[in-house]
Amino acid sequence: MSMLSVRHLSKRFAGVAAVSDVSFDVHAGELLALIGPNGAGKSTCFNMLNGQLRPDSGEIVLDGVNVVGRSPRQIWAHGVGRTFQIAATFGSLTVLENVQLALHSHGSNVFDAWHPMSGTHADEALALLAQVRMREHASRPCSELSYGDVKRVELAMALSNRPKLLLMDEPTAGMGPTERNELIALTKSLVVEQKIGALFTEHSMDVVFGYADRMIVLARGKLIAAGDPQTVRADPQVQEVYFGTGNTFSADAIEEATA
Ligand code: ADP
Ligand code: MG
Repeated sequence: MSMLSVRHLSKRFAGVAAVSDVSFDVHAGELLALIGPNGAGKSTCFNMLNGQLRPDSGEIVLDGVNVVGRSPRQIWAHGVGRTFQIAATFGSLTVLENVQLALHSHGSNVFDAWHPMSGTHADEALALLAQVRMREHASRPCSELSYGDVKRVELAMALSNRPKLLLMDEPTAGMGPTERNELIALTKSLVVEQKIGALFTEHSMDVVFGYADRMIVLARGKLIAAGDPQTVRADPQVQEVYFGTGNTFSADAIEEATA
């Protein structure tokens, strides 16, 4: 069964059809890449899935439940974890405290999170840090970490509500090739182990072709191709959107086109 079924999802902004009649599925244990040129509607899609934007029409069925109309917090509570494009950790807190804070926010009142919490959820937080291979950095302030390490802490935080679905909009933005590959390889192994469905946008075609199980392509709000990376790469419409007819697919060109 699909972890996530998106059906006929549409959203307009004053005259712009940002997302038009988009349907796709994400299965448990699968890493699905969403690609498309700038302005294709990728972030609008993500923001409807996480509840920040209400779709004009369509269904978002998560683990059998249509979550359209629910708030971001309700959707999060229903099992959607997300990472943010901009670092979402508190630099003055330690790595461990950031993850404890994420665990603590599962309670009904987020502001309780400001109470002293040494000891609170410490074991669970350390276990999450071990999953993202950051346990040995637990007592360092986040402000001291490299960018790639901050992203791994964010991944631990996103996993803290044991999500069924993980949403990552440009998780590797601003990273070098090595860090990028490491983060997605780690994500992929966790997604498989924990049978999470994961949807991510990514500009690096090396990463997409290296790790995505399937990919979907948006152009001007419409879904123009879906399938395994090799099939999508050969799709005439994808080639045309990125390079004009007749050009062959090249990782550099697609990266340039989507940067
Ligand atoms: P992507 O993430 O693929 O670059 P977006 O989803 O951000 O694309 O944008 C899709 C289209 O919707 C673009 O034309 C963009 O200008 C427009 N758009 C996105 N958000 C808004 C908004 N809040 N208000 C008006 N137009 C928006
Ligand atoms: Mg975007």
